Amino acid sequence: MRDTANQDCPLCSSAAEFYCVDAGNVKYFKCSNCSYFQVSRRAENYLKTAPERIRNSFSERAKQTPDDHLLVISVESSAKGTQYVSEAMSGKFVPKSELEL
Ligand SMILES: [Zn+2]
Repeated sequence: MRDTANQDCPLCSSAAEFYCVDAGNVKYFKCSNCSYFQVSRRAENYLKTAPERIRNSFSERAKQTPDDHLLVISVESSAKGTQYVSEAMSGKFVPKSELEL
């Protein structure tokens, strides 16, 4: 059993809980509003300052996650130095079989 912690959802600010995966680099969230998704630590920091429409769009995508997939929000490494952090983030549907859960 993994230790979960409570934290407001970085996408919609609803009550949520998470546990860490990928050696602590990624948080696996379970949100009462957005359902399940993963977000890297770096992307989470970016989300704090991202425009609300960006967070909303990730939230909407999380709700549309296909079966046996998870939305993974991360920062494109090729976007280093990008001035607009919201453009550096990507959300991809990844098969659960390829993820550490
Ligand atoms: Zn949420």
